[in-house]
Amino acid sequence: MKSSLQRAAPATPSRAPVERFRRQSRRRLLRADLLTVMAWASVSFAVALWLADGGATGFSTPAGSFTALGIVAGLAGMDLLLLMLLLVARTPLIDGAVGHDRALEFHRKLGKPSLYLLLAHGILIAIGYGLAEGLDPVSELVALWALVPDMWLAVVSIGLFIAVVVTSVVTVRRRLPYEFWYVVHLLTYAAVLTAIPHQFSVGGLFAEGTWQRWYWLAICIATGAALAHYRVLEPLVATVRHQLIVSRVVTEAPGVVSIELTGRHLDELAGSGGRFFIWRFLAPGMWWHPHPFSLSAEPVLFDSSGRGLLRITVRNLGRGSAQLARVKTGTRVAIEGPYGLFSTAARSRNRVVMIGAGIGITPLRALLERTPFEPGNATVILRGHSEEELYLGDDVLELCRRRGATLFHLTGPRTTGEHSWLPESAVHSGHRLASYAPEIADSDVYICGPDAWARSVISAARGAGAREEQLHYERFDW
Ligand SMILES: Cc1cc2nc3c(=O)[nH]c(=O)nc-3n(C[C@H](O)[C@H](O)[C@H](O)COP(=O)(O)OP(=O)(O)OC[C@H]3O[C@@H](n4cnc5c(N)ncnc54)[C@H](O)[C@@H]3O)c2cc1C
Repeated sequence: MKSSLQRAAPATPSRAPVERFRRQSRRRLLRADLLTVMAWASVSFAVALWLADGGATGFSTPAGSFTALGIVAGLAGMDLLLLMLLLVARTPLIDGAVGHDRALEFHRKLGKPSLYLLLAHGILIAIGYGLAEGLDPVSELVALWALVPDMWLAVVSIGLFIAVVVTSVVTVRRRLPYEFWYVVHLLTYAAVLTAIPHQFSVGGLFAEGTWQRWYWLAICIATGAALAHYRVLEPLVATVRHQLIVSRVVTEAPGVVSIELTGRHLDELAGSGGRFFIWRFLAPGMWWHPHPFSLSAEPVLFDSSGRGLLRITVRNLGRGSAQLARVKTGTRVAIEGPYGLFSTAARSRNRVVMIGAGIGITPLRALLERTPFEPGNATVILRGHSEEELYLGDDVLELCRRRGATLFHLTGPRTTGEHSWLPESAVHSGHRLASYAPEIADSDVYICGPDAWARSVISAARGAGAREEQLHYERFDW
């Protein structure tokens, strides 16, 4: 293990950036809080629609009570489902407030509650209607299927939704190829589309002419429009406008290549270092598989027309990334993005600590190029099994020298037994995160690396006093 490779000069205190970052962080957190309040308010509002329609009177009989609870569960479940779709619509509003990682985290957390609510909706309605008509719930369901238009679509929707949630459970997901999981996940759209018709054709709450019907239509259409705009239209426009073409492929280490791409109007792309795009290399055998990769360098502009260069660094972690080592120059590339908050936009403090492992070092390298800090106010910690695994390590060393950042290379095998993000030798010497970054409690902390390792760093940073708004991380998995 090497400790400090590059000691930085002491910082000259400066007030201006602190204020800028604090203001920026306050505004971002306020936006995130507002979005959270709006999300929960939308669930309450869905229930309020039913109350305003006199739904609570249903509680006067046992049958009515089951039916009433079933309707409330359906309204809340559908509202959560729409929120889940909005969270993956990649809207700048959500991405800029909470970042891609956290939006996905919330999306996953809502999966099971919305499924349980939708299942409860079906079961409670069958019991409620059955009690009213003297039928058991199963016979009632069969009768509803046969008699009520669009009911079969609702049953198909529940089936699809169960498939999506089951394949999303972490232990199942890890065993599935990404492509299979992705296709099953696309069924969410079919699940929502098949759930909608019975909401308007059955029951009086959304009957024609009611304001409830207009509100419900509006939130369904707004969610669909956000998905179509940000996930389909914008990427198509960006691909046509920026005309990205592979210009060079450079081997950085065994199994790791940097791919440079030239393009147009890159000044409009807001792709600052550390953010990621979803790339689709338009070559035979590759075009159908999009991959998220972070920029490993700040975009370079050749001239004032916005012609310039982007760079990503890719590690061979599977079939698709292995193919990229052989991608030919001149290959056209479609993009979606940029996404994520792993950039200066997330800064809240004057000091910065960057901690990366393996291929996770590459977005940190890009961030290190331009994120503002005074000499002496940045610490960079690179972790790898060996020096060869500190990808782009030479670039990082050069940048640390130039910008006055302190650099640590932490190499060596992992600990056996108790899990730590540090190498075994560092743990035995009694080192902790604060040994390398003593001012971590007053720094922004950027963390990128394998999931379990990153979680261990995050908990070490929390333990050392860093607050939630100071922690910025990017997960490289799905
Ligand atoms: C936000 C983000 C930024 C990333 N940045 C980089 C980077 O800068 N450099 C780099 O080398 N890698 C990066 N990755 C990881 C990279 O996207 C995957 O390693 C790559 O897509 C693997 O594809 P494959 O076909 O080779 O692997 P597969 O054989 O399909 O799968 C190997 C592993 O890669 C992951 N994976 C595959 N496809 C995707 C996908 N579309 N989205 C998310 N994960 C996927 C899965 O976790 C899977 O376990 C990033 C991932 C994310 C989510």
